[in-house]
Amino acid sequence: MKKHNFNAGPSILPREVIENTAQAILDFNGSGLSIMEISHRAKDFQPVVDEAEALFKELLNIPEGYSVLFLGGGASLEFCMVPYNFLEKKAAYLNTGVWAKKAMKEAKGFGEVVEVASSAEANYTYIPKDYSVPADVDYFHITTNNTIYGTELKSDPDVNVPLVADMSSDIFSRPIDVSRYICIYGGAQKNLAPAGVTFVIVKNDALGKVSRYIPSMLNYQTHVDNGSMFNTPPVVPIYIALQTLRWIKANGGVGEIEKRAIEKADMLYGEIDRNKMFVGIAVKEDRSRMNICFVMAPEYKELEADFIKFATEKGMVGIKGHRSVGGFRASCYNALPKESVQALIDCMQEFEKLH
Ligand SMILES: *Cc1c(COP(=O)(O)O)cnc(C)c1O
Repeated sequence: MKKHNFNAGPSILPREVIENTAQAILDFNGSGLSIMEISHRAKDFQPVVDEAEALFKELLNIPEGYSVLFLGGGASLEFCMVPYNFLEKKAAYLNTGVWAKKAMKEAKGFGEVVEVASSAEANYTYIPKDYSVPADVDYFHITTNNTIYGTELKSDPDVNVPLVADMSSDIFSRPIDVSRYICIYGGAQKNLAPAGVTFVIVKNDALGKVSRYIPSMLNYQTHVDNGSMFNTPPVVPIYIALQTLRWIKANGGVGEIEKRAIEKADMLYGEIDRNKMFVGIAVKEDRSRMNICFVMAPEYKELEADFIKFATEKGMVGIKGHRSVGGFRASCYNALPKESVQALIDCMQEFEKLH
């Protein structure tokens, strides 16, 4: 049976990316060796990093003066590297969920942290909008897509301080104005690659401004100076990221990916709103295109486990909601085909007919 992969992360990758990787694992570039067996300093591997960096810059329209890094540690390590490298006195954070809160917690170890707004009181079902960011902060940190709650900040906030963003779960799903940011980071395992590589876009002249000593591995400057090769980078995940970047380009770039994301999200939210058995969780204007969270309507509450079973039998994978939210979460990342969204909608309609 065909599986429809709605996993929240690690999550679906384009089929051709997996096939190209399978080939490179057997024989990389006709070298007779696996990509897993070669040095990261081999002359065949440097072009992989170079092309991945160039495609990042091209696809996101990254201006001059920025570096793209491929590191280890996940987005969670960035929660501490960001304040380590950029927080001298004070930073502002927007509290839109568990990941934002974790980022804020690490920052508190480095300086004053201002939580400009929070939607915690509503279990993060919306993105706060009426807030002001102090003019004297070193940066304002946002989490553009809240993977657990299904909310998304779909445009760059209009503030007069440098922005830092965790874009783990919506990178490459919409165009961004990188010039507004000093740093954009994320774990690759949602929209780019398998787990193991972390992408960081950093503005070069924003570095070197804090007075503390920064350990080499945690200093962005180290990785800028060494082209992500200070130590052994995650070779295979970087290779896979490159395949995904090529796939995005071949599919028309970020503008086209955004169009598809809007189309898929509109289809599924349309069904959630139409179907009497389901209700969406996030407020409409903040609905995520990437993680679509919904629950059973109150009168059908006891059918939640039945629907999961019904949908699982029809090939849906990973639609159970996060434990802190409950219900269902259908992650519709860039690689998820429209057909999978339609298959889930068919399940919801059949289930409705049965009840
Ligand atoms: C998944 C996720 C993280 C955690 O990433 P790790 O790579 O596991 O550290 C952080 N932020 C967001 C928004 C995420 O979706």
